[in-house]
Amino acid sequence: MATIKLAARIERMGGEGAAQMIAKARRLESEGRPIIHLEVGEPDFDTPVHIKRRAEEALAANQTHYASSQGLLQLREALSHHLRRSRGVAVSPDRIAVSPGCKDMIFSILSVLVEDGDEVLCCAPAYPAYATIVEYLGGRAVPVPLHEALDFRFDVDEMARLITPRTRLLVLNSPQNPTGGVLTRQDVERIAALAEEKDILILTDEIYSRMVYEGEYHSIYSLPGMVDRTMLVDGFSKSHAMTGWRLGYAAMPLPVCQRVTRLLINSVSSVTTFVQWAGIAALEGPQEEVVAMVAEFARRRVRMVEGLNRLPGVTCRSPQGAFYVFPNIRPLGRPSAELADYLLESAGVATLPGTAFGAAGEGYLRLSYANSIENIERALQQMDAALAIATKG
Ligand code: PMP
Repeated sequence: MATIKLAARIERMGGEGAAQMIAKARRLESEGRPIIHLEVGEPDFDTPVHIKRRAEEALAANQTHYASSQGLLQLREALSHHLRRSRGVAVSPDRIAVSPGCKDMIFSILSVLVEDGDEVLCCAPAYPAYATIVEYLGGRAVPVPLHEALDFRFDVDEMARLITPRTRLLVLNSPQNPTGGVLTRQDVERIAALAEEKDILILTDEIYSRMVYEGEYHSIYSLPGMVDRTMLVDGFSKSHAMTGWRLGYAAMPLPVCQRVTRLLINSVSSVTTFVQWAGIAALEGPQEEVVAMVAEFARRRVRMVEGLNRLPGVTCRSPQGAFYVFPNIRPLGRPSAELADYLLESAGVATLPGTAFGAAGEGYLRLSYANSIENIERALQQMDAALAIATKG
């Protein structure tokens, strides 16, 4: 028998709550139960045709060889223009690197910056990868509570009190997964001032920046001086319905970008070359489909929030961005994981327990409205019926 001695660091790494729920839902489906999927975090739209066509053209033109590990220069130039248009800042292509998805880029950036015992401020609840990767690297993820009463923003003064001499980095994600919370202009200004005062770096995950339903989008990256201490991560998965293509990027201070590129050289070598050409088409081509998709999400958001607020024991704030709602289910008096299982089994609706996003998510569920209005209406009716039975019983 071989002795398989596993590295201690991999044992510190957890899985993802979303994957477990998807697996449970698929099992029920294979038994013939119809399930409405409100647990998945991806647009239900297809990638726009002009993007797919550019990938096909690139394939036909034999763009099938290794690309530069940092990313095709043409894509980095297109990203540089995009950042000037969307964030109002000049970033040269040598400060941009391309990765197979934002998640991989988050992994690379944290690997470059986090050492044993370093503290990283992460919102709580949050996209689980941040804390998981920080802990994997031997750092400590320090939770910054999000407050429902603040529409799931954090209190900047409270965050400031969590800063210690070991604090290296603050992770921002606005619009936020799982809550749909969005930072205000005043928030980002105060956070930027604090980061300068305390000399803290910022990782801002802006993958949902196209999906803001009220007011303007405020990126900390746009504020004076911030490009020198901020890693901006963004990608194509959500904005252009390209989750399976695996394409993301970051704009970073040069020393960080050089080390991230070193990691890319030693891990993925390069992102699939014809996929990078598709990325250029996504940036430079027509944006009507993106705008239409976001308008559709806005319509569904209203229906979802109204419907959830009519369910017994459920209250739901209107999220300002992304495509998730984070209803409070505390009055039902059941742990979120148990309620999510109950809704799956009894209502045929897959949701995620708030605890899939850390302990601070207890008392909430996350539902995605990246699904048709018909499915959303049906899910609401089925949940209503299941909860009526549960609250009577
Ligand atoms: N950041 C956040 C906040 C996300 O919700 C997701 C996907 N669910 C990602 C990053 C990863 O995106 P990608 O597909 O680009 O790896």
